[in-house]
Amino acid sequence: MLSEAFGDGVQLTLIDRDDAFVFGYSKLDVMFGRRSAGEVRLPYGALAKPGVRFLQQTITAIDPEARRVTTEEGEHEADVLVVALGADYDLAATPGLAEGGNEFYSVAGAERLGGLLPGFSRGHAIIGVCGAPFKCPPAPSEAALLLHDYLSARGVRADCRISFVLPLGSPVPPSPATSEALLAAFAERDIEFIPNLRVSALDPARDVAVLDDGSELAYDLFLGVPRHRAPDVVIESGMTESGYVPVNPRTLETAYPGVYALGDVATVGVPKAGVFAEGAARAVAAALIARARNEEPPAGYDGLGSCYIEFGGGRVGRVDVDFLSGPKPTGTFHSPSEALVAEKEQFGSSRRARWFG
Ligand SMILES: Cc1cc2nc3c(=O)[nH]c(=O)nc-3n(C[C@H](O)[C@H](O)[C@H](O)COP(=O)(O)OP(=O)(O)OC[C@H]3O[C@@H](n4cnc5c(N)ncnc54)[C@H](O)[C@@H]3O)c2cc1C
Repeated sequence: MLSEAFGDGVQLTLIDRDDAFVFGYSKLDVMFGRRSAGEVRLPYGALAKPGVRFLQQTITAIDPEARRVTTEEGEHEADVLVVALGADYDLAATPGLAEGGNEFYSVAGAERLGGLLPGFSRGHAIIGVCGAPFKCPPAPSEAALLLHDYLSARGVRADCRISFVLPLGSPVPPSPATSEALLAAFAERDIEFIPNLRVSALDPARDVAVLDDGSELAYDLFLGVPRHRAPDVVIESGMTESGYVPVNPRTLETAYPGVYALGDVATVGVPKAGVFAEGAARAVAAALIARARNEEPPAGYDGLGSCYIEFGGGRVGRVDVDFLSGPKPTGTFHSPSEALVAEKEQFGSSRRARWFG
């Protein structure tokens, strides 16, 4: 948006330690062998916008007072700093997870599981969430439903048990209708749903998952959602409170003038999901454009977002959620259909074209 508004009249520096963007949901495609890790990468090298330069560097320090970031190659100072470093995975916070389990929340983890799943033909698979908040609350439900399809297609579903451990009371708390549809889908497919508990440890010697009420579940394959935390460099900058960066939810401003935080790294009052990161980024860009043009500030971030949910059987549902306008979040559910499969594809391809086109 800034490039479109000002072209070469603005100097935009995008810094990422990685050389490519990957949609969160592509990790499910990689895990279930629908696409390769290479196919889902969108290289930043393809990003050619007036005024924008991409630097593949690792940020080692952030000074929010000076609006300065340090990388292994030098220092960058800016008039405006937008911190969007996401959430890191803290495998060590769940003893045994690194040794005895697997995670499907990183591309590498999904790829590794993609290699293990063809060898899983009998026994107990647990999809286990190790702590909240975690990215994309429907994603582990999707993983459970797609695992059912995957095992059914291989003709081994009857020999396998699937359990799903979630530290929330329902799969999608802001939308009871979405949760009901997911619970019905679990029941139809004989997926055991264990709510209100998280996996606190794995005991790889006994292949047992320990839940936070002390109960134990034996497993043959563990597919985990690791605990999340803000990246160390953000914590060390002093910007975080209760784990993440507090912001004004309407403006995404932090306590530091000219410094914004958005996406998974910030506490906005919305879930950690790409669609909300995108909406927040648009709100920041609109405010910066208005300010540069001496126009009235725009209305601000609305906290609205639509999440597509893989229900299996070649169908996708959608939940439209509103997190900020009322006293509590609300959601409207759209039943799974083939039409929504095409809509989700259009969601992805429209972003690919706009950001990397
Ligand atoms: C399995 C799964 C399914 C999902 N499905 C959906 C979905 O259907 N819809 C949806 O909206 N969301 C979904 N998500 C969530 C979505 O992927 C994230 O919420 C979203 O990517 C957050 O965007 P972000 O920009 O805040 O962080 P990220 O996308 O994580 O980006 C942060 C960037 O910062 C970079 N970085 C971090 N530290 C440093 C450093 N020190 N130096 C330089 N660069 C650094 C990283 O390389 C990364 O590119 C899913 C996530 C998962 C794991």
